[in-house]
Amino acid sequence: LVSRKEKSEDTVININNELVGAGAPSFVFGPCAVESYEQVAQVAASIRDKGLKLIRGGAYKPRTSPYDFQGLGLEGLKILKQVSDEYGLAVITEIVTPADLEVAVDYVDVIQIGARNMQNFELLKAAGAINKPVLLKRGLAATIDEFIHAAEYIMSKGNENIILCERGIRTYEKATRNTLDISAVPILKQETHLPVMVDVTHSTGRRDLLLPCAKAAIAIGADGVMAEVHPDPSIALSDQQQQMDIPTFDAFYDEVLKFMKQYEVKA
Ligand code: PEP
Ligand code: MN
Repeated sequence: LVSRKEKSEDTVININNELVGAGAPSFVFGPCAVESYEQVAQVAASIRDKGLKLIRGGAYKPRTSPYDFQGLGLEGLKILKQVSDEYGLAVITEIVTPADLEVAVDYVDVIQIGARNMQNFELLKAAGAINKPVLLKRGLAATIDEFIHAAEYIMSKGNENIILCERGIRTYEKATRNTLDISAVPILKQETHLPVMVDVTHSTGRRDLLLPCAKAAIAIGADGVMAEVHPDPSIALSDQQQQMDIPTFDAFYDEVLKFMKQYEVKA
């Protein structure tokens, strides 16, 4: 169902009037994790001031260590909902269990399935049965074929609104947190009719690589870019190394817009 052979036109996903996959790149910014109302609201103000429409933030955080911050859960979803209403933004947030999915649909606009759950087939099937778009991330060590099959699980249950997100894969390279597989973008766009985004934060794990990788993503035809922004990354409860503070975010976005203008990318 996700195959280009089944449907030749690009799937366009309408998230509160932000059209993902319609030609102009979409941008998803926001903190790694929801920590407080003030923290999310500060980032939301900066996103809104840029005329952008989407915000991300994790309420359920799948962490490597059980002793690390696990997210605020339902309280985090409530904060996201309040901020999104106040700032006119649509929320993208990760959900990790089918039971939480049922609760989350009332609070958020897009359900994210994270890299660690790309082959959680019960979660994929549950996401296929809801009436919200799903942003599906590539697994830590998933082949492109496995990634496409994971999307097929969702669509096979009836949900056609799926955004694929390349977020880097595990390789022997240690200079970056993961290896951004930039060629996955055109392959996924050839093989499927779904929009494809690139998460420059989790793929690189390096703040100094966010801008060049965002440019590469746009240049290669990605439908969107995701990156993490926190009012004060030095005290963030997760991903301190890679989130942008707000002045860095402002400069990053200015440079992205300049790049798009220079190469006449539809904005
Ligand atoms: C995230 O986007 O918050 C996240 C945990 O990313 P990933 O699943 O790609 O590691
Ligand atoms: Mn993160």
